Amino acid sequence: MAPGAGLREQVAHAWAASPAQRARLAAAAIDPAEVTGPESLMALPVMRKDQLGPVQSRERPFGGLLGEPLGSLARIFLSPGEIYDPQGTAPDYWRFGTALAAAGFQAGDVVLNCFNYHLSPAGFIFDAAARSLGCVVIPAGVGQMDMQIQAVRDTGATGFIGLPSYLLSLLEKGGGNLPLTKALVTAEPLPSSLRSKLEAFGLQVSESYGTADLGLVAYQCPHREGLHFDAGVIVEICDPEGHPVAMGEVGEVVVTALDRTYPLLRFGTGDLSAMMVEPCPCGRPALRMARWMGRANDVVKVRGMFVYPRQLEEAMARFGPQVAHWQAVVDQDEHHRDRLRVLVEPANGGGPAAEAVGEAVRATTRMSAEVILVAGGTIPAEARRLEDRRRWE
Ligand SMILES: [Zn+2]
Repeated sequence: MAPGAGLREQVAHAWAASPAQRARLAAAAIDPAEVTGPESLMALPVMRKDQLGPVQSRERPFGGLLGEPLGSLARIFLSPGEIYDPQGTAPDYWRFGTALAAAGFQAGDVVLNCFNYHLSPAGFIFDAAARSLGCVVIPAGVGQMDMQIQAVRDTGATGFIGLPSYLLSLLEKGGGNLPLTKALVTAEPLPSSLRSKLEAFGLQVSESYGTADLGLVAYQCPHREGLHFDAGVIVEICDPEGHPVAMGEVGEVVVTALDRTYPLLRFGTGDLSAMMVEPCPCGRPALRMARWMGRANDVVKVRGMFVYPRQLEEAMARFGPQVAHWQAVVDQDEHHRDRLRVLVEPANGGGPAAEAVGEAVRATTRMSAEVILVAGGTIPAEARRLEDRRRWE
């Protein structure tokens, strides 16, 4: 099915079945019959994750966002932030089976599922996914690690599902001779330092990305370069005003779910990433997103352009240990013009030239910055990497 046709059908369904989505579409003057692709929804303001609680609170539990009668659901979850999440009746409702299969999980594998099963859906999300592949699940949740380690040994469990930080604790506590050989991790960043530590225990570690509201959004194929988008969602990478950015640029991951139970349209996850331009050597046609690049509300608009902490981190990483500490500050000069300044504490052995730092910042942000070398201890340890000091009164 072409994405356009799937999307048109989905928008028509949302219009017919979800009063809250119909109200959004009507307010944006979008006619479901005229939808041909994601560009047809550009007038629809992004609905951000932090709006979900307030929308639902207008008419508990789902605020008119459900696309099917409440009585037809399989389960109802209550996540932090007082957000209700529905589970429809499809066997792998959140579609994470695709991610597990790409991570090498198969029928007969015994799998330790270290997500919680209480109130919020993570435990059930991965339980359903593993069962859909024919895996045998140990519903472990979080905690009682000694018993979990014993269960892994006794059952010969080969698969782990959970947070990467939790996996490391489990492996360290298990003393390095557990039968685990593969892991699907999510819900936390996986820096390459942590990945290397996990792989040193003999595990293949794959990442996936999704939310309780949307199900699977993207997952890693065996090449593990970026994450392929799942066929159950249409993804845009957008600037803070909801306009798609150019291919390869950083922005918020905005998702339209092709799910009849919970037809979320242009749902802003609050997570930052970028599309990857190059095709993947695995041959999957689905586009990929790069790794997680931070939270969208850390973005600051300077002189009409968006600057992300991640871009500055990338620039400063070029100087490695030459820089002891740094902070970028946005304020206004005496003419009320936006000003980006980067404060740099050089390391003891001598830091980089201010000019070189300015060049690096320009390369990643495409913006000129005033670089100020300051004495050690000037920047407070808890300072935000990118601080907006402008006042708008
Ligand atoms: Zn691939």
